Amino acid sequence: MSGLPGAAEGGFHTLRDGAGGRGNAMVQSTPRTSEAAAGPGKRPKLRCHVVPGVHRLEHAYVNCYVLEEAGALTIVDTAHPSTWSVMLRALTALGRTPADVRAIVLTHAHFDHLGFARRAQMEWGVPILAHVEEQELAAHPYSYAHENPRLIYPVQHPKAIPALFGMVRAGALRVKGVTGLEPMRPGEVLDVPGHPRVVFTPGHTFGHCALQLAAADAVLSGDALVTFNPYTGGEGPQIVSGAATADSAKALESLAALAETRASVVLPGHGREWRDGAGAAASVALAAGPS
Ligand SMILES: [Zn+2]
Ligand SMILES: [Zn+2]
Repeated sequence: MSGLPGAAEGGFHTLRDGAGGRGNAMVQSTPRTSEAAAGPGKRPKLRCHVVPGVHRLEHAYVNCYVLEEAGALTIVDTAHPSTWSVMLRALTALGRTPADVRAIVLTHAHFDHLGFARRAQMEWGVPILAHVEEQELAAHPYSYAHENPRLIYPVQHPKAIPALFGMVRAGALRVKGVTGLEPMRPGEVLDVPGHPRVVFTPGHTFGHCALQLAAADAVLSGDALVTFNPYTGGEGPQIVSGAATADSAKALESLAALAETRASVVLPGHGREWRDGAGAAASVALAAGPS
């Protein structure tokens, strides 16, 4: 720790009590290690209580969420391999330790959501839950179905280049596969801190699931609906490009399941929260269509 005035606990932006996106009491400092590679404006950010009981850790263009209930934690999605050290500092900033983490839940097993899952499984001994259709992908995170060639996107969408390079620098191309996932079923309320309800939203991947948080009136949409598309750099509610989506038509159909949650807040796998309701987010994404 530098001890300099303005240095943040944990070495990242810490935003507290973020309701309404106002972000008071922002603290920042210069990151010292690999997080610096996240790039200007993209250092890790911890948003405490983005909705009550839910903290968002953003690292290199990917969001993880920490669900807190009675002092115990669930981590939803695990971003990149180098997010491990960032998450450890986030837990400290939250006044918690790894011993408080009871489970990891994956919306899906793409490499940019699987980053430190294997390490957490081995070092913390926590269960990792995902839909059964994600098991194969989790074991082989680079063998994923996608509709369109990936390399044309940075050419056609130069705005996406910082995000793609940022993810690579955070270790996105060296994610280790994970086995031994515990299956979660559509409609099930998971017996883990935060008690998310599993909302089956296939299309982006074949077993993608969103997670509804009834008490917080929110839904974690994973990559079923994002507000930042890493493959185009586009902002606003949309499905992810065909570069990383297995079946865009199915992904567009699955937006109805998100709308049916009637959640007030949508917390996506990439991009900021959307506070105008899941129904409106789904309508905007449907109108935007595939990319
Ligand atoms: Zn994905
Ligand atoms: Zn993603």
